[in-house]
Amino acid sequence: MPELPEVETIRRGLSRTVVGKMIKDVEVRLPKIVSLGPAVVSNIRSNGTGKGEKFRKFLKNLKVESVKRRGKMLVLDLSGPFTLLIHLKMTGQLIYAKPGERKEVKIFKTQTSPRMALPHKYTHVIFDFADGSHLYFNDLRQFGYLRLVGDDALEQVREFREYGPEPLSGKFSLAYLLERASRRPNLSVKQFLMEPKVVAGIGNIYSDEIFYWAGIRPDRKVRTLKKLEWRRIYLMIPKILKEALAARGSSVGDFFQVDGSEGKYGRKHRVYGRYGRRCHTCHGEIKKIKLGGRTASYCPVCQR
Ligand SMILES: [Zn+2]
Repeated sequence: MPELPEVETIRRGLSRTVVGKMIKDVEVRLPKIVSLGPAVVSNIRSNGTGKGEKFRKFLKNLKVESVKRRGKMLVLDLSGPFTLLIHLKMTGQLIYAKPGERKEVKIFKTQTSPRMALPHKYTHVIFDFADGSHLYFNDLRQFGYLRLVGDDALEQVREFREYGPEPLSGKFSLAYLLERASRRPNLSVKQFLMEPKVVAGIGNIYSDEIFYWAGIRPDRKVRTLKKLEWRRIYLMIPKILKEALAARGSSVGDFFQVDGSEGKYGRKHRVYGRYGRRCHTCHGEIKKIKLGGRTASYCPVCQR
């Protein structure tokens, strides 16, 4: 699942490619991917009646004015009183093709994954821009969504109210982190840091990496951490996220940038996805453990 560095990389890619462009038409191939209004989009959705056609009519002839991000949500401000929210969830992709460009992309970032020309069978929504360029929304597992919200209803979007502060913003402080931690004493630190209410945009990959660099085991209970340890975690959060952003994210699974190229941070992972391999620091074996249904990878020597 894309996390803050990946979604921010896509935001930057969209800013370079689609901002200022007029949406000439939208093809909704799978209506359950789109939704209208501020309500939370469930993973269980119907293809509805006429939903895709309504979505298309609203978007036609609107211009993309800016692309912002909140947590893992992309926020496209459109001309007229509309905002388009896009969440990639597990396997969503946004791929841009220049006018006349025949884009071929891999579905997965594996050696064996074939390159397929867009649109392919996992392309569910296609934006046609007035200049002849296209934006493809692909999603293998179909949990992602595009949700059109009236600007006057943006305040009703529950995720915006519930997301914690952006970890790269000034609102994210050590005092804040300690205060949140005091409310969840019995949770593991990894589960704590992955809660969107605590901090927005940190998931399985970056929590693993942050705890490695902070030298803290992901299964420690929140209440057992000393203030100095919280400080190490707090300092590592922006450091790791900025490094990952500079490398344009981690291409694990199916994350690609909007031009179809891979993020490079995966090569720098110390623990995530490295279970059973050697730790780069102590040469011991990287272990894994289940925490709340998710797998955490860590080094039992370097992390205490
Ligand atoms: Zn180690």
